[in-house]
Amino acid sequence: MAPMTVVSGKRRGRGEDSIFWDDAKNGHVRVVSVRYSPSGTHERKKVMGRIKAEVREKLEELHQAVVQTKLPGGMEARRMSSVVVVGAGLAGLAAARRLVAGGHEVVVVEARDRVGGRTEGLLLADGTPLELGGQWIGEGHTRIRELAGELGLSTFRTWNDEGQLLLELQGRRSRMSPRKGAVPRISPFALADLAQGLARFARLARRADLERPWLTPGAEVLDGQTWESWIRRNLRTGAGRAYFHVACEAVWAAEPSDISLLHALFYTHSNADLDTLLAVDRGAQQDRVTGGSHLVAETMAAGLGDRVMLGSPVRRIEHDDNGVRVIARDGSQYAGGAAIVTLPPALAGRLEYDPPLPSWRDQLTQKMPAGSVIKAYALYPEPFWRRDGLNGQAASDTGPVKVTFDNSPPSGTPGVLMGFLEGNQARTWARRSPADRQEAVIGCFVRYFGPAAARPVQYLERDWMAEQFTRGCYGAHFAPGTWTAYGQAWRAPIGRLHWAGTECASRWNGYMEGAIRNGETTADTVSAL
Ligand SMILES: Cc1cc2nc3c(=O)[nH]c(=O)nc-3n(C[C@H](O)[C@H](O)[C@H](O)COP(=O)(O)OP(=O)(O)OC[C@H]3O[C@@H](n4cnc5c(N)ncnc54)[C@H](O)[C@@H]3O)c2cc1C
Repeated sequence: MAPMTVVSGKRRGRGEDSIFWDDAKNGHVRVVSVRYSPSGTHERKKVMGRIKAEVREKLEELHQAVVQTKLPGGMEARRMSSVVVVGAGLAGLAAARRLVAGGHEVVVVEARDRVGGRTEGLLLADGTPLELGGQWIGEGHTRIRELAGELGLSTFRTWNDEGQLLLELQGRRSRMSPRKGAVPRISPFALADLAQGLARFARLARRADLERPWLTPGAEVLDGQTWESWIRRNLRTGAGRAYFHVACEAVWAAEPSDISLLHALFYTHSNADLDTLLAVDRGAQQDRVTGGSHLVAETMAAGLGDRVMLGSPVRRIEHDDNGVRVIARDGSQYAGGAAIVTLPPALAGRLEYDPPLPSWRDQLTQKMPAGSVIKAYALYPEPFWRRDGLNGQAASDTGPVKVTFDNSPPSGTPGVLMGFLEGNQARTWARRSPADRQEAVIGCFVRYFGPAAARPVQYLERDWMAEQFTRGCYGAHFAPGTWTAYGQAWRAPIGRLHWAGTECASRWNGYMEGAIRNGETTADTVSAL
């Protein structure tokens, strides 16, 4: 918040001055009246000196009143800020950091008892850091790399190059080079079908308009079908279709039947291309943050200090021409000139707004569901699969774990296998008991990497669908028809309410990179108002 300033003084009548106090740039104008009875210039000077002192005192009193005392409605006001950021994930923290650097006063209101949102760290008893949420930094993710540097963090390469990856398609198992663009060993007929399908998809994706996807050439037709319909029409072989299905689950944690074709094209273009999205080498899975990706959020939050309020789930936002009031479940209130809401769209839509959001914005949030994913870990004394010439990566169309990675720390000890249950597999297995799920996950690891995988020293998992303050991952996708019907409400502010987060990013949508970039650009927009 800009410091409180007296913006004008106006004589209202004999013996009384009124001082107008502009509390920040938010348009709230308060009036302090000071009485005096001037008699001659000397006397007036003395009186004016006293007035100034009184005004300073009054302003301080008023400030304290706003900060500490009850606001109308009997709610306790904990803080007064010019920008209230809702959510301390990467977008919220990046926005707050940018605003503070620009001289604004900010408060970040976070529901959880930790920051980081969809990035979350866990330190094992032996000091091994695990990442329960987002972890990789991809090629082209320049802002998060730069930010990590600014925060004193370093990165390392994902374990990839020294060993082959396993591909299991339609019951046939083969090994593949881990290089980007490596050709899978499938029948020549299936290979030709796949190559043609990938080329067609890439051609369409390049045409997707990243700033206004609903204006993409042929948007109505593309948005009027699921990605699944397109796959069925354009791929003839089982292996070709299976490849696209695995790709969709791995990238969106959703089924091709959930997603608008236009959205699949937009998202792919936003993240370079499908090859980059799937690759480790020069792809989206290329690097990791030493110590864990959650350190990016934690280090940003440390710099913001007591501006970050943890354990304060927001339930209601009141907004009008003068400002916003963000109200948490415990009744705490945070007032400001503007709010930046960084919640995943479905959760942003569940907050109460007064006045209510316009129908187009509310309906958009109803049509942007989150993907479905459970991230599972098995720990072993060492990464034994490396001895067999494998790099710990498997891609399968059978599942239930269809994608695995070697998530061992740079030291190589312990050996850490990580696998995802995604899309329908996550939806199905979330309903089973933890013991059944563990058995199924370990069963997949054994199928891919042999009997040594049967005896992990530890098993852990995080079901992101069950997380009250996330409700699904990796990100949200647009259902068919949504871009063309509601696209214009995607990022448009509603009065003093602004939307930010990875789902609002035109570049690197869905990724940590998109969250940070979008948090910063939204902060710049708010700053410029
Ligand atoms: C399992 C998994 C794997 C992933 N893998 C990768 C990866 O390898 N690389 C990559 O780049 N990305 C990955 N992602 C995606 C990445 O983590 C996200 O894109 C990014 O973290 C989103 O940041 P955000 O700030 O937009 O949203 P969020 O992180 O969701 O931040 C929103 C914040 O709002 C808070 N909140 C929610 N409700 C309320 C409320 N009522 N009141 C106050 N606060 C509230 C939340 O607690 C959260 O802190 C992955 C995600 C998951 C879950």
